[in-house]
Amino acid sequence: MSWFIRKEKGINTPTEMKREAPDGLWYQCPNCKKVMHTREHKMNAYTCVHCNYHEKIGSTEYFALLFDDNLFTELDANMTSADPLHFVDTKAYPERVKSTIGKTGLKDAVRSGYGKMNDLEVTIACMDFNFIGGSMGSVVGEKIARAIDHSLKTRTPFLMISRSGGARMMEAGFSLMQMAKTSAKLALLSEARIPYVSLLTDPTTGGVTASFAMQGDFNIAEPGALIGFAGPRVIRETIGKNLPEGFQSAEFVLEHGFLDFIVDRKDLKDKVTSLFRMLE
Ligand SMILES: [Zn+2]
Repeated sequence: MSWFIRKEKGINTPTEMKREAPDGLWYQCPNCKKVMHTREHKMNAYTCVHCNYHEKIGSTEYFALLFDDNLFTELDANMTSADPLHFVDTKAYPERVKSTIGKTGLKDAVRSGYGKMNDLEVTIACMDFNFIGGSMGSVVGEKIARAIDHSLKTRTPFLMISRSGGARMMEAGFSLMQMAKTSAKLALLSEARIPYVSLLTDPTTGGVTASFAMQGDFNIAEPGALIGFAGPRVIRETIGKNLPEGFQSAEFVLEHGFLDFIVDRKDLKDKVTSLFRMLE
């Protein structure tokens, strides 16, 4: 029984001195549950090396993946939301914005910038889901509109990366106006024959799907991304029927003609660059 009982106190480190493995050294895939080194995961564009599950990432990671040497100039970096409706939920809206800025280090749910992608000058706007569910309020709409203006002025192709729960309820009608504003700007881009590619990532829903995310010269998506307008539960309850298997997945949406193709994140930079070159 001595195998099971520690007779001598050989190793005797007090609990408070015991070292855990540094936080975030290993990544466990939420899909296949397999474990890999975070560096390996990052090198693989934050996709699982075993099952290709695309982890949700933000603008910082996308910009690093897409801009050559991660060099870019950010547009409207300090724009923050006002409180036009004096909205109070469990917390006053300005408080919610302030604490989210503190927690995420982001100013709102989208960042935009310009730089080179495979030596091609481009303008990119990318949404951040961590900021109040990637919700579209007046800052998101305005920053996207200005990024499109920059695209127009410099005649550089525009890439929009969407990840959003939809309109920001705390800005109500002001959120909905952003759909019209961004769509009008995209129409100018189209008239000027400047290429626009829209990438839909997991999840892209609500007013974002219903406006700029679906207006690309090419609308492309990451594998397995949830794409829709209303959520599946709402639809099920409205039509009183069960929904088909895989409903609202990027693959399902592609099959039904709402997407041009699905792109693996590891190929994103090269695929989008060749689309831009082809469209120009
Ligand atoms: Zn996996």
